[in-house]
Amino acid sequence: MSSRVVIVGAGAAGLMAAACLTKAGIDVTLIESNPAVGKKILISGGGRCNFTNSQASPQEFVSKNLHFSKSSLARYGAGDFIDLVKKNNIPFHEKKLGQLFCDKSAKDIVGLLMNECNRAKLDLRLSTKVTGISPDLVVQTDKGEIQASHVIISSGGLSIPTIGASDICFKIAKNFDMKLVETRPALVPFTLDESVLEFTRELSGVSVASVVSTNNIKFNENILFTHKGLSGPAILQISLHWNPGEEIEIDFLPELNIEMMKREVSRRGSKKVENWLCQYLPERFVMMWWGVHELSERKGAEWSKRDWEKFESVFKRWRIIPNGTEGYRKAEVTRGGVHPDELSSKTIESKKAPNVYFVGEVVDVTGWLGGYNFQWAWSSAVAACDDIIAKLS
Ligand SMILES: Cc1cc2nc3c(=O)[nH]c(=O)nc-3n(C[C@H](O)[C@H](O)[C@H](O)COP(=O)(O)OP(=O)(O)OC[C@H]3O[C@@H](n4cnc5c(N)ncnc54)[C@H](O)[C@@H]3O)c2cc1C
Repeated sequence: MSSRVVIVGAGAAGLMAAACLTKAGIDVTLIESNPAVGKKILISGGGRCNFTNSQASPQEFVSKNLHFSKSSLARYGAGDFIDLVKKNNIPFHEKKLGQLFCDKSAKDIVGLLMNECNRAKLDLRLSTKVTGISPDLVVQTDKGEIQASHVIISSGGLSIPTIGASDICFKIAKNFDMKLVETRPALVPFTLDESVLEFTRELSGVSVASVVSTNNIKFNENILFTHKGLSGPAILQISLHWNPGEEIEIDFLPELNIEMMKREVSRRGSKKVENWLCQYLPERFVMMWWGVHELSERKGAEWSKRDWEKFESVFKRWRIIPNGTEGYRKAEVTRGGVHPDELSSKTIESKKAPNVYFVGEVVDVTGWLGGYNFQWAWSSAVAACDDIIAKLS
């Protein structure tokens, strides 16, 4: 049988795999259900694609096996993808915390990946849906069957169903008797109970620099009040570590401690505390929070210990149990997926289905917000391709 690698899904990981394999002279059939490649890349990073994080390391990933991503990230890390971006003369910048974005458009990253492919070796089939894979690696699609020597499954997670997300990878994994880790929307806004929304809804659009924590994990970034609950980078980050029913805690004044505040307020004894606080927080938020939580209206110098304790509990330790999330419709990623125990961490090949590889978001490796998820897509695709190239050479 002549060798042909079939790649399922032309997103980040699938395009990277197609580039690596065709460059090595290997025949590839790349199957994509959408009429165009890389749709999620195009909408990522607000249209500018946060294509990697210069500080990416295994610590910024959540997985049943926290060591699983080590080998792939060491083989092909952020520096390697940055070199590729530079080689293709794509202008980029660091926004914050190592997050690298295109200066112009996410189209540059899709263009890069297509440019890196050897078109003579690439059979690209758009608007074609993979429906299954038989044990002898016949890939079934809605437009016929293709015999593969190796299969790379890069069909992504469940988020944003309107642009092609499907559960085909999980069906295929189950057919090969592989274990899955329960999936859940992540990097996603929280929804709140109507009793809380009654007052927070009025703050829609207000953003506050905060520290948000749950399960001993903290993120110091902005939160955003929305019509449905809470969003913003700190909330998206914490959603990755949150389990339904758990409490989150928000410190709206992370730069100030209570003793400092007491000193400052008593120095300005004649002023009302809420007026003083408006230099640190949006006035709309302060006034709303003050009224809803019935904080003391007295001047700062007259505040009792109880007044301060109440203040602390609503501004420094506001605790809330989200009633859920906005779901896959709004989630940037899917947490969970193919269980790492089912795959070789070096090659990402299935232990139960030889010559079948699961890469990118389909695997239970989920990165923080900030370019980590694309880096996992690039790194896991390269690990699989290096193995296939070695087998075929
Ligand atoms: C709004 C948004 C913004 C994001 N921004 C960032 C960011 O800036 N930085 C970052 O690191 N991550 C970001 N992410 C996450 C990132 O996009 C994903 O983690 C990454 O795209 C995963 O790559 P993948 O190749 O595994 O899957 P995908 O890129 O999702 O590709 C999977 C492909 O498979 C196709 N497919 C699915 N089922 C089938 C089938 N049955 N047959 C054929 N084809 C199929 C899909 O149409 C899709 O094209 C963002 C996600 C979203 C939703």
